[in-house]
Amino acid sequence: MSEELFEKVKIDENYVRVSKDELFNFIVRIFVKLGVPEEHARMVADNLVMADLHGIESHGVQRLKRYVDGIRKGGVNIKPNIRIVKEGSSYALIDGDEGLGQVVGTFAMRLAIEKAKKTGIGVVVVRNSNHYGIAGYYALMAAKENLIGISMTNSRPLVAPTWGIERLLGTNPIALAAPMEDGYFLLDMATSVVPSGKLEVYRRKGKNIPEGWAMDKNGKITTDPEDFFAGGALLPLGGFGELHGGHKGYGLSVMVDILSGLLSGGTWSKYVGNTAEKNSNVCHFFMAINIENFVPLDEFKRSITKMVNEIKSSKLHPQAQRIWIHGEKGFLTAKTRLRIGVPIYRKVFEEINRIAEELGVEKLEPIKQ
Ligand code: NDP
Repeated sequence: MSEELFEKVKIDENYVRVSKDELFNFIVRIFVKLGVPEEHARMVADNLVMADLHGIESHGVQRLKRYVDGIRKGGVNIKPNIRIVKEGSSYALIDGDEGLGQVVGTFAMRLAIEKAKKTGIGVVVVRNSNHYGIAGYYALMAAKENLIGISMTNSRPLVAPTWGIERLLGTNPIALAAPMEDGYFLLDMATSVVPSGKLEVYRRKGKNIPEGWAMDKNGKITTDPEDFFAGGALLPLGGFGELHGGHKGYGLSVMVDILSGLLSGGTWSKYVGNTAEKNSNVCHFFMAINIENFVPLDEFKRSITKMVNEIKSSKLHPQAQRIWIHGEKGFLTAKTRLRIGVPIYRKVFEEINRIAEELGVEKLEPIKQ
């Protein structure tokens, strides 16, 4: 396997490649045309492009239609008054005024970073926001400033609790990023076995999902993504394909709701709406930790790099080719895609270009082969 060109997902003839800059500018054009201030449009584009660059197809430009619908249906406030409701030297509570989640999230993480640099720690909780894309984007913002970054969000109810069948919990992701000597550690994961976006990817490709991801509305484990979309539920992480889903993912999901939804005075996943709805009240949690306040930065970077290297060079399972660390595959994929372009699934490519046509903006151009 060449580290020079690496894709963490299988790319076939059903994809077209576009350059990173073309994709970024395309997304900006769409949002600006919808009335979003350019600075805000760039924040959304940055988040979606990072997802596609890092091979997180479920949360890249595939989501564009949903955001566009959210704006068109009035569920998203395109010129929000993002307000600091309460603040201390190391914390803040923010009301996102129903703005685009990426805009509110970027504002909030910037504030957490500023506070961490001054006091050693910055905790910012947010209510009244919208879907903010990939959690890892915000955690990485802090790591790029030599801080440890943590980011979480609740989301609309799609996951059943262990032994339940009702959609109550969100897929509530958790991300943590930390700087290493060369690059970053980046754990970024849903607390369900998979996020719903992954089922959308399978549905679009006309493929069955693996057993253990979802149940139908009566609680029967299913491999047909349509059973999930017809009112079934996702399973919490760590269920090993059992009927009831994992109690650990279930607990982590509730933890995210406590830190983001309840601590912010917002709401928990059961009452969170989708982007197209008014008052969807998505809530986020951000934390930045200034490493220097605890140990010298150089020492930290040395020790995390040593730990990661020791893990990666440990004894390999006979059926495996190598041990990875969190974030590594995503960064390698990004490196490749910066060189040869970002693959966009053809049906997504067509869908977003239809949106461009409707709005009368310049279409997304593939890289000429
Ligand atoms: P994955 O299961 O794809 O990956 C989870 C983590 O594990 C990543 O950090 C990944 O890094 C790492 N990883 C994958 N394989 C290995 C391996 N073999 N060894 C070590 N580490 C590994 O993520 P999910 O599908 O759970 O989530 C995808 C995205 O969806 C996330 O960005 C999340 O924030 C987002 N999401 C957003 C929601 C929202 O409401 N806004 C809701 C739910 C999810 P790498 O990819 O680099 O390998």
